[in-house]
Amino acid sequence: MKIHEYQAKQLLREHGVPVPRGKPAFSVDEAIAAAQELGGPVWVVKAQIHAGGRGKGGGVKLARTLDEVRQLSLQILGMQLVTHQTGPAGQKVRRLLIEEGADIQKEYYVAVLTDRATQKVAVMASSEGGMDIEEVAAKTPEKILKVFIDPLVGLQDAQGLELVAGIGIPAASQPQAVAVLKKLYQCYMDTDASLVEINPLILEGNGQIKALDAKFNIDDNALFRHPEIEALRDLDEEDPAEVQAHKFDLAYIQLDGNIGCLVNGAGLAMATMDTIKLFGGSPANFLDGVQDHAAQPACQGDSGQHLRRHHALRHHRRRRHCRLAHRGPERAAGGAHEGHQRRDRAQDAGRLRPAHHQRQHHGRGGASRRSCRAGLSRIPQNKRTTWLS
Ligand code: ADP
Ligand code: MG
Repeated sequence: MKIHEYQAKQLLREHGVPVPRGKPAFSVDEAIAAAQELGGPVWVVKAQIHAGGRGKGGGVKLARTLDEVRQLSLQILGMQLVTHQTGPAGQKVRRLLIEEGADIQKEYYVAVLTDRATQKVAVMASSEGGMDIEEVAAKTPEKILKVFIDPLVGLQDAQGLELVAGIGIPAASQPQAVAVLKKLYQCYMDTDASLVEINPLILEGNGQIKALDAKFNIDDNALFRHPEIEALRDLDEEDPAEVQAHKFDLAYIQLDGNIGCLVNGAGLAMATMDTIKLFGGSPANFLDGVQDHAAQPACQGDSGQHLRRHHALRHHRRRRHCRLAHRGPERAAGGAHEGHQRRDRAQDAGRLRPAHHQRQHHGRGGASRRSCRAGLSRIPQNKRTTWLS
């Protein structure tokens, strides 16, 4: 789940990460009241949408007078903001952040994220702040520094120093920068985030370090532990079809093709999408979980009873399938066991899907999970949920 910048900054504030003073505004009047409360001499009017690149798209503007705050708020509120992350249709701006203007000396990039290759949390930093980090990674990868965290000890001083000195933060500001990185890491852990990205982290004229932008991806599977974060959900920013699917606990991702996929099983769903692509078509969605969930309306009341009925049905189906395929039930049990072993191996390899995904795949092999990964290329970056990326 994503949250807005102003919400992310509140989480940072609560963790002691310095951020500019600012207030959200849902109307022009609220924007002016916020600017008055903050006091000048400069304000930044920032569009709040769940996408980056707002500055380049005209969604982040400097105001030097209250009248400019009014004009810019009028202009930005309600606009269809197009950035490289929104797609060509853009995203309607419904909220603003009115913030004090910062005295920027230098912009850096820092992020805490889950690194799937090493199965560790990584802290990343770059001197190329304010830029599109994918572009930096593609053109000048040597400008991105990374350290990996041992979860038992967290981010160590020496690692923090390696990063902040490595990206050229002046010596006098390095201790504060290391402290900020440690707080960011703690915030990432405490919120069960899969990504906390600060772009830019700035050095101010007075030598202070501040987070000027903030992006959080929260692991959906951990949201049940964070009702206060779930409450920050902004359904206007989410795809209506995905919102609808989420209500029924379906793994559904809207894509931009024109062939609808009604599939049960992530592996089969991926394979179906691959097949469609192979023959020149374009899938309109990824969907997993039809069969499991189709059974659910009958499960009002005693969920244990439902579960038993559900498993009995599955068992019956498997036996029937085995008979049809001229294989004995023993073989089927063996197959299921092999599936478990495969899953264990996948688990060892850190390929495990989140809890809801596992539930749906209980008793099936790891093959579907592998296909999940193989089929990933079919899902555009900005459409991937944390468990797919
Ligand atoms: P996005 O990444 O969506 O473009 P940012 O919050 O990073 O949005 O803002 C874009 C740029 O605007 C920043 O790199 C910074 O240069 C400038 N900016 C953002 N907030 C402030 C602020 N409070 N004071 C001064 N400049 C700002
Ligand atoms: Mg930014």
